[in-house]
Amino acid sequence: MYRIAVPDQKSKYRLAELANMFLPSSAYEFVVEPNSHESFDLVLETEEHSNRQKQIVYDFFTRETGRTLDWGILTGVRPVKLLSEMLQSRPVAEAAALLRQEYRVAKDKVDLLIEVYTTQKSVNFAEAPPAVGIYIGIPFCPTRCLYCSFPSNVISRDGSERYLSALYKEIEAVSDRIGKLGWHAESIYIGGGTPTSLDQAQLQELLRRVSQSIYSEHTREFTVECGRPDTIDVAKLNAIRQWGAERISINPQTMVDRTLERIGRSHNAQQIREAFSLASACGIPLINADLIAGLPGETAADFRYSLEQVFMLKPANITIHTLAVKKASRLIEEDQDYAFRTGNATAEMLADAGAALKKEGYRPYYLYRQKHMAGNLENVGYALPGTESLYNIRIMAEDQSIIALGAGGISKMYYPEENRLERIPNVSNYEIYIDRIDEMIQRKEKGIQ
Ligand code: SF4
Repeated sequence: MYRIAVPDQKSKYRLAELANMFLPSSAYEFVVEPNSHESFDLVLETEEHSNRQKQIVYDFFTRETGRTLDWGILTGVRPVKLLSEMLQSRPVAEAAALLRQEYRVAKDKVDLLIEVYTTQKSVNFAEAPPAVGIYIGIPFCPTRCLYCSFPSNVISRDGSERYLSALYKEIEAVSDRIGKLGWHAESIYIGGGTPTSLDQAQLQELLRRVSQSIYSEHTREFTVECGRPDTIDVAKLNAIRQWGAERISINPQTMVDRTLERIGRSHNAQQIREAFSLASACGIPLINADLIAGLPGETAADFRYSLEQVFMLKPANITIHTLAVKKASRLIEEDQDYAFRTGNATAEMLADAGAALKKEGYRPYYLYRQKHMAGNLENVGYALPGTESLYNIRIMAEDQSIIALGAGGISKMYYPEENRLERIPNVSNYEIYIDRIDEMIQRKEKGIQ
């Protein structure tokens, strides 16, 4: 057991996150304000700033375990944003050297960041204000996945009806507010949950309201996340087209049937193929497919198989997620050290996928990280050139106000003059959201400015 003395609780919390990527939590201990007679493997002093502390701990564990981490000491969610900030005052080569030396980031991850940044620069954005992004959350799914940590609920007719009534009030209020300010929605994203777990009449009505009150001639992108292939049919897809959405997401996660069953998805790979054919037949111009690397029981060969199967479906966008095993998931109850144990295999899957995607003509265009990801890796969105999602780039760049409606939505108002973000949260439990809808609306009336 490694014993490390740290000056305060804050350092302990920050450094444990890093240590956990090298070793299971039972193999090290951080001690705050130790007695002078105790002995330690490493002692950190108060005056060291946080990055320096991380470097010391990183170098210590690298020496002790013989391992390095692809993302070095970076634990933040938005490394592309960090790179973009660095590039404001230095050339690319200098920023790359800084990431390598100060942050200990591996060369292929620095190259990936530069590639993502370069693709984003080639995307043609609307002028910032008065353009905003709009997110609408539908917190329902047909069943709950094994790894789910979202406040998503198994759909019921009564619950979804009451939820939609509250949501419609919020949609009207936000539409009025942005109209008064002379703003418009550059992008609209209906996500979840699984929005298409609503029944056909509910989805039709939701889309009608969004289209009539928020969509405008300035809107450049309208996405509906379908997620589960077993939630879509011709009528729902036609409604999506009718009301102006041109992007959907059908998310296989894997094309291996035994894994689909293991993770609690209520569909098989054949249904995924059928959903893609149906969407093409209904004239949906652009489909994204999500895959997850590091699912329970999967090998690199399984993941490669899924990717090849997805290539055959020809989606414009493919997003490669790394499984994140969070506290609220059923998986972590079954296996505490899952993310730590599967890190190496997952890293191999991601490297393999990146090369295969490039060969098929996809470019990485957005990237983010989460806590508790297998191997401390990343999620990367790939797109055929010209099909990148503005919404996905914007939400990671945090350079535009994104107004989030529905339970769990956290709006982020961006003030470019001060480069400042102001959050306006909605409550995440949908029953409480329904009860307190007037308060959610008041928060927005005050905060959207
Ligand atoms: S589809 Fe997504 S939100 Fe729904 S249960 Fe699965 S992981 Fe959770």
